[in-house]
Amino acid sequence: KQLGHVRVNELMEEILAQIVHQVPLSHIRIIKEYEPGLPILEGDSEQIRQVLTNLVLNAIQAMDKGGILTVRTQLDRQREQTEIMIADTGTGIEADNLQQIFNPFFTTKANGTGLGLSVSYGIVNDHGGTIRVESKAGKGSTFKVSLPIKGRF
Ligand code: ADP
Ligand code: MG
Repeated sequence: KQLGHVRVNELMEEILAQIVHQVPLSHIRIIKEYEPGLPILEGDSEQIRQVLTNLVLNAIQAMDKGGILTVRTQLDRQREQTEIMIADTGTGIEADNLQQIFNPFFTTKANGTGLGLSVSYGIVNDHGGTIRVESKAGKGSTFKVSLPIKGRF
């Protein structure tokens, strides 16, 4: 892990720009709600980029037939953490699968590796943060990454 400065809003903008450039997204509406003036976090930007890219790609892949991708950042002063929310209006996750999605090699995709979420879980954990999911089959999913602002620059 290479510790450096993580600028969450800027990083998310870079990730979305890159994905929009690579994947046809005409069927997906993107809503961005960035909290201005977030503290700069201490962490490995490339690892956090990997986490957020995974979550956005999963969200897009869950919306084959179109939908809304919402990306939100928020400062939780009480808990001293920055929250990054990535929500989709896609397929959602069956209750039976919900316990397994962070397990290595669990995938429901024909060509999935099932590694995105397990790797993401490890990275976030290694940064002292948490990753949570709320999902309803047929409605969509919301993933929330919380990263501590302690040790900020
Ligand atoms: P992969 O994308 O290669 O399948 P992941 O670890 O990224 O591996 O995800 C594991 C599984 O979790 C997916 O196959 C899918 O079943 C489920 N999943 C993850 N994100 C979403 C999402 N946003 N909507 C619906 N299902 C999801
Ligand atoms: Mg994935």
